[in-house]
Amino acid sequence: MERKQFLKTLSLLPFTGAAMKLNELNKITSSFGSTEQMPLLFLGHGSPMNAIEDNEFTRSFHDISTQIEKPKAILVISAHWETRGTFLTAMEHPETIHDFGGFPKALYEVQYPAPGSPELAREVQQLVTSTNAGLTDQWGLDHGAWSVIRHLYPNADVPVVEMSIDYTKGPQYHYELGRELAALRRKGVLIIGSGNLVHNLRMVDWNRMNDIGYGYDWAEEARTKMNEWILDGNHQALIDYRQQGTAFNLAIPSPDHFLPLLYVLGLKDAKEEISLFNDKAMAGSLSMTSVHIQKS
Ligand code: ZN
Repeated sequence: MERKQFLKTLSLLPFTGAAMKLNELNKITSSFGSTEQMPLLFLGHGSPMNAIEDNEFTRSFHDISTQIEKPKAILVISAHWETRGTFLTAMEHPETIHDFGGFPKALYEVQYPAPGSPELAREVQQLVTSTNAGLTDQWGLDHGAWSVIRHLYPNADVPVVEMSIDYTKGPQYHYELGRELAALRRKGVLIIGSGNLVHNLRMVDWNRMNDIGYGYDWAEEARTKMNEWILDGNHQALIDYRQQGTAFNLAIPSPDHFLPLLYVLGLKDAKEEISLFNDKAMAGSLSMTSVHIQKS
């Protein structure tokens, strides 16, 4: 948590609040150009081991990338980067952060050397008006980002910028912050939320950690209801997850893994299609449900 503590005090970052000249902004905009509207993804990342495993979930991550035009850059909102305020990684070469403990050595040896994109970070900073998003070189790619993105783009040839989750803000704020990013979708930027919709680590059945399809009654109740609301476009019910009873309270004991979904839903156009994949419970108290939003 040292790193998190440090991030809370990052108000004096060299980039933060730097005024950008208009000609610089034009340069950024033109360097990304205009594209068709890119799809949106929410990816249930599950165990960090998915980073190095070949299983039905990771194969789906790969498959989805073959259905999407290769992005010019990725903006990822990961459950594993919570800060006071909103920050963007703005370095040329983000480090691969191994932010977990007790896993096999092979997992710690994984590097995902995708470049960063200081240009995109600055563009996001300009787009966001509800808060002063800061730029930082004090993070990198945590496993919420690289453990899934490496299955989409194994050659690490798409620049990646991470955006942090402001833990001081409520779900409505995050939903609306997502909407502010809409213009990026027409500049070839793939926006990914990475978390898990049912995610109660304290209640995981560690003896059945790899038991795909095994969900406690409350986990399945929450998964089913979430799916219904995601597919019906009942975003407000999802934003108001704290009012949805016991199953939701157990499924979302802390907001970090759920909030990335709200960014993605906030960005969905009314006419776009939404579909689920990897929609399975795991280990009793987790779900891998992932969401793909694309034009119909
Ligand atoms: Zn996680």
